[in-house]
Amino acid sequence: MWRIFFSMMLIASANISAAQQSTLIQQVLIADGSGKPMYKGSVRIAGNRIVAVGSIKALPGENIVQGNGQILAPGFIDTHSHLYGYLDEAPEALAALNQGVTTIITGQDGESDWIDSIKAQLAKRPVAVNVATYTGQTSLREIAMGANDIYRSSTAKELSTMQQKLQQELQQGSLGLSTGLEYEGSFYSHPDEVVALAKTTAQYGGRYMSHIRSEDIHMDAAIDEILKIGQQTNIPVQISHIKIALKDKWGTAPALLRKLDSARKAGIMVTADCYPYDFWNSTIRVLFPNKDFNSLAAATYATEHLFDPAGSVMVRYAPHKNYVGKTVAEIAQLRKETAAQTLLYMVAAADSFRKANPDAGGVETIMGKSMYEKDIADFMQWPYTNMCSDGGNGGHPRGYGSFTRILHQYVTVQKVLSWELAIHKMTALAAQQTGIQQRGRIAVGYFADLVLIDPTTVKDNASIANPKALSNGIQSVWVNGVLAYQQLQHTGKFPGVFVSRL
Ligand SMILES: [Zn+2]
Repeated sequence: MWRIFFSMMLIASANISAAQQSTLIQQVLIADGSGKPMYKGSVRIAGNRIVAVGSIKALPGENIVQGNGQILAPGFIDTHSHLYGYLDEAPEALAALNQGVTTIITGQDGESDWIDSIKAQLAKRPVAVNVATYTGQTSLREIAMGANDIYRSSTAKELSTMQQKLQQELQQGSLGLSTGLEYEGSFYSHPDEVVALAKTTAQYGGRYMSHIRSEDIHMDAAIDEILKIGQQTNIPVQISHIKIALKDKWGTAPALLRKLDSARKAGIMVTADCYPYDFWNSTIRVLFPNKDFNSLAAATYATEHLFDPAGSVMVRYAPHKNYVGKTVAEIAQLRKETAAQTLLYMVAAADSFRKANPDAGGVETIMGKSMYEKDIADFMQWPYTNMCSDGGNGGHPRGYGSFTRILHQYVTVQKVLSWELAIHKMTALAAQQTGIQQRGRIAVGYFADLVLIDPTTVKDNASIANPKALSNGIQSVWVNGVLAYQQLQHTGKFPGVFVSRL
């Protein structure tokens, strides 16, 4: 008897608390993430879910949010984020929330934290944004081969250790395998090692995400490599932050996309993500695609074909702090050298600094200007490209401004994308291409990750000079049904969760 009574009480209290906690976002233009035309309506959220969508009457006592005809979209999913490492010091995740991002996908470019540690970290220090992760090849190499001994091919025994760890991570909900093959920690890995790890990933239903082996002079071979992995494993493969960083190849995005389309016709599930800037952020070492760091000829080639010394700014440079904020051309002028000589010097000085200070992380970072605007727009419009930031917490403006820059620059100003399509590429397509479930759509039963956007004012403000400037027009952001950001401020709530593939 008491059991029945007790369960009745539970049901009653569940109803009451649902009514108390439900929120109705009224009079909005719903861009539901599918890419279909926006429509007028309301959305009710209760607990962490969307419980009703359409023309809905308010319940007595319900929280009402007046949308005033603004756009309500699913919270954006950033499929290539470097923000996770900063969440310990900045758990409010303003970099993400100010541009409407509610889920960040970490573990990129071959480097990841283990899921146990991510979960422990989120429990210890709750954050305002959801976190999902890939498992990085370089991180696997570090545990199997030793952190200082990864600049070679792995042995069969080491590979098997890597596969075991990868398997554990996939069983815990990792989205799949990520690689950063252009970086030295995995550049020397044999393609067979990558294929073997991707096959393990396939066994557990994961996906493959790759910063490919070259984005400039060896790009054709790098594209062939990822397509081959897709073909041999039959899993979806995604090209991270697709770009053409070789001046001689500017304008050839359509040809590359034709190649990807024919691979798709042949059954290879290749996709891409993309960020909306014509300059990247990385180490100066990537300017030496053949890893010949002492060659003046290679440095000269880099200054002429791989980046614009006058448009590329040092973000970090531990050996000479006064170089920070200056372009490579300005530093060369200071040193009375050519840009190539300066580049060579800076690589060597950074190397010596690292050797003298083995624990100094992030010795040098450059924002390298090397892309062509038309290629970026072409990549963005490919039906299988979703959006990402590739950003962290400051430094490159993409960390705070990518998604709002797309809405301002490519939707409002250039009209390269419609609102619906841009939002689709930031939400449902992003979820689909990374294997995230029940997020990225405004539909009953989906998690209530939502962003209310003023389409007349939305605009990125982050710049090289002010990389943490907040965007305009992101009115409110809900994460798992909790209002996390409003009127350019974090609300003090930390509703982010770990998002598992399973
Ligand atoms: Zn990358």
